[in-house]
Amino acid sequence: MNLLSLFNVTYGIYVVSSRRGEKINGCVVNSVFQVTSENPTIAISVAKNNLTHEFIEESKVFTISILKKDTPLPFIGKFGFKSGRTIDKFKDLEYELGITGVPFLKEKSLAYIEAEVINSTDVGTHTIFIGKIVDCDNLCKGEPLTYSYYHKEKGGKSSKNAPTFAQQSAENIIREEKKEELETKHVCDICGYIYDFNIGDDLNGIKPNTAFDDLPNDWKCPICGANKKQFTKIKSEDK
Ligand code: FE
Repeated sequence: MNLLSLFNVTYGIYVVSSRRGEKINGCVVNSVFQVTSENPTIAISVAKNNLTHEFIEESKVFTISILKKDTPLPFIGKFGFKSGRTIDKFKDLEYELGITGVPFLKEKSLAYIEAEVINSTDVGTHTIFIGKIVDCDNLCKGEPLTYSYYHKEKGGKSSKNAPTFAQQSAENIIREEKKEELETKHVCDICGYIYDFNIGDDLNGIKPNTAFDDLPNDWKCPICGANKKQFTKIKSEDK
């Protein structure tokens, strides 16, 4: 069995949101698909350890915000690598509450779909929720962000909660690199982002050829916001 064949399955990048009473939260999900067109239904796969999973189980309602192709990595990181248990992910963002009281994003989002859970299937680490679509609309024109584009063109990483996560982030990428390049890289322990001395960090205004040790003390991971202490130097013997 060659599990690499699964990398040929296509996915998107979505923010799935739900609520518990007045409290709202959302997380990044890559597995969303329409199930039926007559009495339209939609399915999502959500990791059980996400707070959003708890909210959906309780409220039985969720929204899907379909992210635009040019959505910046830190925006995705906020929903994909941070927990609603410690931060309010919607703070300072443009959003609206749908008819079920669940938020959908009005920025970085091409369209939203709002659904009520009519069925769910326990698949171990994840639950597949099937929802009856109760509202949906387009918000702007553009192309959706695909999972493939996120990984290949934007250098995005998989959250451990993604159903497609395959430990591909740190170790596997590293093994393919040369020894001398390894010595100039640091990996984020939280999200797997790699700080490369040769590349710098454009999102935070860090020029190429800036040593990790010379980064400002308040520098943070451009994807998940982890601080410098949460980075591990990639050693040549790890190759
Ligand atoms: Fe990170």
